[in-house]
Amino acid sequence: MDRILVIDDSPVQTEFLCSILQNDYELTVCHTAAEGLKTAKEGEFSLILLDVVMPGMDGFQLLQELKATEITQYVPVILLTSLADVQYEERGLLLGAVDYVTKPFKPVIIKARVNTHIQLYRYQAQFKEQAMVDGLTGVANRRRYEEGSRARWREAIRFDLPFSVCIFDIDKFKAYNDTFGHPAGDQAIAAVAKTVASHFKRSTDLFARYGGEEFVAVFMGSVAETAYEFMKTARQAVEDLHIPQNPQVGRWLTISAGGVTMLPKEGDNYDACLKLADTMLYDAKRYGRNMVVWSSPAVEQWRER
Ligand SMILES: [Mg+2]
Repeated sequence: MDRILVIDDSPVQTEFLCSILQNDYELTVCHTAAEGLKTAKEGEFSLILLDVVMPGMDGFQLLQELKATEITQYVPVILLTSLADVQYEERGLLLGAVDYVTKPFKPVIIKARVNTHIQLYRYQAQFKEQAMVDGLTGVANRRRYEEGSRARWREAIRFDLPFSVCIFDIDKFKAYNDTFGHPAGDQAIAAVAKTVASHFKRSTDLFARYGGEEFVAVFMGSVAETAYEFMKTARQAVEDLHIPQNPQVGRWLTISAGGVTMLPKEGDNYDACLKLADTMLYDAKRYGRNMVVWSSPAVEQWRER
């Protein structure tokens, strides 16, 4: 059920709105703008109904705050105005509200407008989702990785959690492509992605196609050993697919992975962490491929065999 946040200083109004919408939506009510802003940032809402005239911070100020905040900027806001506020409507729409409804509310109108904007929001979310997915493999694409990895890095710093990043790629992929052709190469990339993706269960983890036959995985909150073991399992699963490789370079198609686990602190640099993972991948290649090499401050380096 979609969630709606109602922000209005009048309990009579909020109760009335709830009575109209509560059968179809999950409603959260706030009676001040400050409380509304805090709640909007914490929850996932599909729509915000916002009163314009409130003591303290008014609806316009709050609307500006919502539009300036990353996690709330795309949530549609419908302004609630009384007839006397009619001159404010233009201002509200210019500030980014999607619509307004005039008090006294007519239940049918409220329902219809809310339904329309929730529907539009769903479409928008769906398009946004599609824009973040890699077409060939169905896993997250580079763009989502760029956003997601940095957001997780900041979260890890904020909550003092271990953070791991792992880069891996298909071994001797050029040889595979040259031998079996690009369509087969694409199929192999998709098969590897699907196999590794099937091991990811937690929404806090992120697995994305980095480009070509290269992938990247981000783990938050896992200790180094867990992340390392996870990637070893994934590496084995890919080998167990038994996709024949060019016999001159190997029996089956395999992957090599380089990872690093850190406890990032304020001021640490994500790109440096990523570069270290890349160095580990280079080591995995150097030590003979089909291998996971991991580094963390506690252990200098783990590698298989
Ligand atoms: Mg009011």
